[in-house]
Amino acid sequence: MIYLDNNATTIVAPEVKEAMEPYLSTMYGNPSSVYEFGKRVRRSVEEARAIVARLLGSHDAREIVFTSGATESNNAAVRSALKSFRSRRKIVTTRVEHSSIKNLCNALGEEGYDVITIGVERSGTLKWEEFERALTGDVAIVTVMWANNETGVLFPMERIAAIVKAKGLLLHVDATQAVGKIPVDLSGVPIDFLSLSAHKFHGPKGIGVLFIREGVPFEPFVLGGRQERDRRAGTENVAGMIGLSRALELAAATMKADSARVTSLRDRLESQLLAHSPDSFVNGGEVARLANTANLTIPGVETELLLIRLSEFDIAASGGSACLTGALEPSHVLEAMGLSRDLALNSVRFSLSRYTTEEEIAAAVDVIANLVSELRSGGRRTYDQ
Ligand code: PMP
Repeated sequence: MIYLDNNATTIVAPEVKEAMEPYLSTMYGNPSSVYEFGKRVRRSVEEARAIVARLLGSHDAREIVFTSGATESNNAAVRSALKSFRSRRKIVTTRVEHSSIKNLCNALGEEGYDVITIGVERSGTLKWEEFERALTGDVAIVTVMWANNETGVLFPMERIAAIVKAKGLLLHVDATQAVGKIPVDLSGVPIDFLSLSAHKFHGPKGIGVLFIREGVPFEPFVLGGRQERDRRAGTENVAGMIGLSRALELAAATMKADSARVTSLRDRLESQLLAHSPDSFVNGGEVARLANTANLTIPGVETELLLIRLSEFDIAASGGSACLTGALEPSHVLEAMGLSRDLALNSVRFSLSRYTTEEEIAAAVDVIANLVSELRSGGRRTYDQ
């Protein structure tokens, strides 16, 4: 298979799997237990937490809370701010957030909160004036993503954080697609809450982090036992925590080289597909974006048909969000960038990883180009697989 859907999830790195293994077999003690068999596991968990803190630029490992993933971290951060500042009824977010923030904000709107959703320009950058105007004293929290999962477009977090902090407001950042791909240094950016998920950077699924800056009030989302210093109840996903820390170490160690190599593969994919279909275009291609993400609109080629045909050639890619019926809905991100519904439904996302090879890109380009020709001519031909 040629896997070009790494923004959906990634393969667990062999080193990560190896680091996790003892915690799935011999070291199965409960970190909360009083005997040595549990305490040994507790020490591993705290080591993992310290590694994560150091790699994120957090000065104190107590700022790191393990969760079940970014969805939970996002929900926890926003709900906490609303509980901490009960008189503030406003939430500021953007039109291009992942569904874990988008649908949470929709629900909060139904609960009576005032959700202000900032638009983006055609390029994918934030509408700054609209953003600054929304930051009034009655805002409980500002929640903005760092890297967009569909286009890879990066929001300039230093600028955003400076603006939000100048107004004295709380800032939550969904950094799920940024962590492991670009440097994220929390010692240099005044972010209050930050969410991440291990499976986006070759760690396991079902484990994430919510960074909570020291001194920022926090009301727990999951109630129960006293784990995670009373901030996230439930017996620890120990193997997951170990895997997350190892995956983050690996990503940090190879980030620079990976990013240069992945950029060149991604650029090759884009330029060859654009050369084949000159009316195609790259969404977010004019602004700073992740090295691994190519989001292309290919007019006249229905995303869903292309994805189905690609899967027949064992190539995994992705479109907008699949709705419950399985039919593809136009991407809210591309629509926010001003694409028509039709063009949004002619768009496909390829996302690479450090394991993507030159040969895979060359083979994928061939297949995609042939399929584009086929789908545009409305016919169906057979090709050598
Ligand atoms: N935010 C972003 C930007 C994402 O890309 C994702 C995963 N697609 C999430 C949040 C949710 O992560 P998880 O499903 O691991 O909770």
